[in-house]
Amino acid sequence: MSDSKKQSSLSKILSFSGKYKMLTFLGVFLSAIAMILGMAPYICIWLVMRDLISVAPDYQKAAGVAGYGWMAFWFAVVGIVIYFAALMCTHLAAFKTASNIRKQGMRKLMKAPLGFFDNNASGLLRNKLDGAASETETLLAHNLADIAGTLAMFLSTLVLMFVFDWRMGAACLLAAVISVGALFTMMGGKNAGLMAEYQAAQDVMSKAGTEYVRGIPVVKVFQQTVYSFKTFKQAIEDYSQKAENFQANVCKLPQAVNLTVTEGAFVFLVPVVLLLGPKALVSGSFALFVTDFAFYAVFSAIISTALARIMFAASGTMLADTAMGRIETIMNAPELIQPMEPREPKDNSIEFRNVSFTYAGSETPALTDVSFVADPGKTIALVGPSGGGKTTAASLIPRFWDVTSGEVLIGGVNVKDISSRVLMDRIAFVFQNNRLFKTSIFENVRAAKPEASREEVLKALEAAQCMDIIEKLPEGIDTQIGTEGTYLSGGEQQRVALARAILKDAPIVVLDEATAFADPENEVLIQKAFRKLTEGKTVIMIAHRLSTVTGADKIIVINEGRIHEAGTHEELKEMGGLYQRMWEDYNKAVQWKIQAEG
Ligand code: ADP
Repeated sequence: MSDSKKQSSLSKILSFSGKYKMLTFLGVFLSAIAMILGMAPYICIWLVMRDLISVAPDYQKAAGVAGYGWMAFWFAVVGIVIYFAALMCTHLAAFKTASNIRKQGMRKLMKAPLGFFDNNASGLLRNKLDGAASETETLLAHNLADIAGTLAMFLSTLVLMFVFDWRMGAACLLAAVISVGALFTMMGGKNAGLMAEYQAAQDVMSKAGTEYVRGIPVVKVFQQTVYSFKTFKQAIEDYSQKAENFQANVCKLPQAVNLTVTEGAFVFLVPVVLLLGPKALVSGSFALFVTDFAFYAVFSAIISTALARIMFAASGTMLADTAMGRIETIMNAPELIQPMEPREPKDNSIEFRNVSFTYAGSETPALTDVSFVADPGKTIALVGPSGGGKTTAASLIPRFWDVTSGEVLIGGVNVKDISSRVLMDRIAFVFQNNRLFKTSIFENVRAAKPEASREEVLKALEAAQCMDIIEKLPEGIDTQIGTEGTYLSGGEQQRVALARAILKDAPIVVLDEATAFADPENEVLIQKAFRKLTEGKTVIMIAHRLSTVTGADKIIVINEGRIHEAGTHEELKEMGGLYQRMWEDYNKAVQWKIQAEG
């Protein structure tokens, strides 16, 4: 990952901080100061040592010892206080930023079209938002302050190295230079290619691992062995080979050099000492020379610690990329544009005018040039082969998605010019993937009309043929769905969703009868509920069995995204086209069923 990307991820995250951005910078600055102050007591101790050695054995002469002691004490106290202040600043800014990420993410999601939630499970979106918020908290509250502190420590150590005796400082620094050089050879030149290969193999393995976990149910259901996951096995072998190659050919020598010189930086001091020692002895400053040497011997060890800490802390900046990756899925969600001057539909008719629609990322259109009219109070059935585009057409009416070209009109007004609230008030929809909230049945139904009384909710549940569901639940309509074993079957969920739509009593109903298929015991009940829901309404019904559409005012046969034919049941039967063939197939199937039962 390039530096500029890291930077931009971090600056993108900081753009969520608002006025708390300065607090992050202040916290980071204070953390660096605290780290430098934290080193001061050690220098004081060394100064005490130096004074004592220079007056030895007449220790009474060392006048500054107590002063240095107090200095060490106050540096430590002030350092700790500043460190606390730094953490207060970074934590406050981190919490505010995380909270802004959550708020802005939610605001963005509120504006996304409903179809976006079909393609992105809401649990997954919530995980992304929570993950991004908590990673941001860790990054801003801890990592940035640590990185700044470590850098300050490293730089001040470098400066100190040259303050007392530049020759010994240069010797210690030589260790650091060799170490950094060794690390760079690991990442540069032809080794960069090997490292990229190794990282790519790691990515492939992790993706194959995810596929493997996803596929476990298939393995179980079809009694396959894990050996069917050849790709995963291959990916692991490939990774292990690349990892071994990387370790043996790239890391071995430079890493050995790096560890040797950083851990044994002291060794570089020895020749300098041997060179300078005799001169110091002659000039009478040997005691001072020994204390300087003690200083460098101790601080040379700090270099290796500081280098290791910098590498560790820098890896923390990867958090910025991960967090930003998560936030971007949400922030890049499409937005449903609201009309500037909303208009009211004149009636409850629905019209498709030359509608074409292509799903984002798809090459072939799901609908091409679809036009039809549903007059108020009429029922239009959409039929045709699976994948033909029925659900897509129905989902354009409540603006799950916006058309790619053409117009969808309600009461003569383009749905894009109707405010979301008016549109949602006018349309009740029941699709296959009904969503029930993890709350009571009562609240689930009342969601359609928050001011509804208990009686109204009960009436809707009755009309949706839900009474048998409620009777068997421990707390009737107050039973929480999805808790303590109270799970509803697909057909039962469909009926609760129908009750919700019935309570809403919207003049336009868009519904998919599919679930009735999946749950034969519920079929008769669901048909009854459908009739109750659609009485006197403009209805667009996606029909999967022809028996349910014979009474529709108009049947539209959609195939490969286009209207193939349209008319009443009788008209279409006479046409001798796709519908007639579907009708014959349907009758044959019914006859087989009767014969089989006979
Ligand atoms: P039907 O309801 O007639 O079975 P759909 O409207 O569900 O057909 O699908 C029409 C076409 O659009 C199909 O080719 C399908 O694969 C594609 N499609 C449906 N939903 C999506 C989606 N969310 N993203 C991308 N393509 C989709």
